[in-house]
Amino acid sequence: MNADSLYDENTKLRLQLKAYVAQATENEQKFLRLNANVLRLLAANDLASLIDIILNQYRAAAQLDVVTLTLIDAEYEIRRTLNNDDFNFTNYPGLIFVDTWRGLRKWLAEDFSPLLGKCEDKQLEFFFPRYELLEPVSMAILPLMRNRKLVGSLNLGSYQESRFIKGTATSFFEQFTSVVAICTENALNQERIKQLGLIDPLTGVHNRRYFDQRLDEEINRAVRTRKPISCLFLDIDYFKKFNDEHGHQIGDRVLQEVATIIKAQMRRSDVMSRYGGEEFAAILTNTDIILATEIAERIRFIIANNKYELSKEIYSNITISVGVATLLPENNCDIEEIGRTLIAQADNALYEAKHKGRNQVVSYVIQNRKIYSNAR
Ligand code: GH3
Ligand code: MG
Ligand code: MG
Repeated sequence: MNADSLYDENTKLRLQLKAYVAQATENEQKFLRLNANVLRLLAANDLASLIDIILNQYRAAAQLDVVTLTLIDAEYEIRRTLNNDDFNFTNYPGLIFVDTWRGLRKWLAEDFSPLLGKCEDKQLEFFFPRYELLEPVSMAILPLMRNRKLVGSLNLGSYQESRFIKGTATSFFEQFTSVVAICTENALNQERIKQLGLIDPLTGVHNRRYFDQRLDEEINRAVRTRKPISCLFLDIDYFKKFNDEHGHQIGDRVLQEVATIIKAQMRRSDVMSRYGGEEFAAILTNTDIILATEIAERIRFIIANNKYELSKEIYSNITISVGVATLLPENNCDIEEIGRTLIAQADNALYEAKHKGRNQVVSYVIQNRKIYSNAR
């Protein structure tokens, strides 16, 4: 071997070594980025923040142009959960729900391996539906699997064709998406546990525990903003008799129907709960005595005019009595004490409505620790 060829050989080896070092450095960088992204996901403490981390923070950290997340939500459970937590869907155009497993399955590879490459029109429509004006040109569609079950897909889009190329290695993506899938399931389980403790299983509305938690929060807010706040106690009339005559099962169905009617009259910011057996309670935020009485009267009217099916084509009527108390907040008041006063006054008003013959609304205003009747 002469000196020239030795030199060439050496140069070749050096170049190769340089390439290996570059590859190792790049892999190390990728690994560190993967690690950082995983840590971000693990920091999410509920489903809404997890979605925000995936769609916004991860997108920015990974310098991606578009990120969307497709979730299979056959039972509407995810949407309901997010809704309960006042999630603002319009802020997350990248969040896509499909109602059936097949709806997503048909777009993916047979073996659920990631799809990398140029975007076809149909794929764009499905995976990036709200990005017509800024359509990505290359994409990575990464199936989310949990216990070998498809739960959704993480969809990455780029305005550069060279960003995602068919046939490139995907092991980093696969590691990341398995963490996304676990975190999503974990967040959903957390929500399930949370909801179970705060929701009444019979009627599906919140329970008294939730009501008590929210009462202090809402009174605090009312005092801070100097806005009136109202509390409604709604109790079914002669329900013991109804149960005795028609049976407990039909009684249960009536309770469900009544809960649905009350809930339908509430606004998003209101808090409604099943407070006890056949008694419901509601907090109406930023609501004065006139509006609160009107809402109570409307609910009373709808319930009294509704027909409750006992058996096929046989119906019965029921009525409710409602106690209303409105608080006009002052500065420097004791939140807990004022909460107790509001509840006690709504309860007194309910008692009075019962005493006066039931199927009616009685309301009171509390101002400067004094109580005024709203009798007209
Ligand atoms: P009032 O007009 O004074 O409110 O009379 P009431 O009979 O409704 O009141 P009372 O407190 O004496 O009885 C409440 C009844 O509500 C007792 C029980 O049979 C019924 N109830 C409570 N919880 C449930 C439930 O979960 N399912 C059914 N079916 N009935 C219930
Ligand atoms: Mg009753
Ligand atoms: Mg009762």
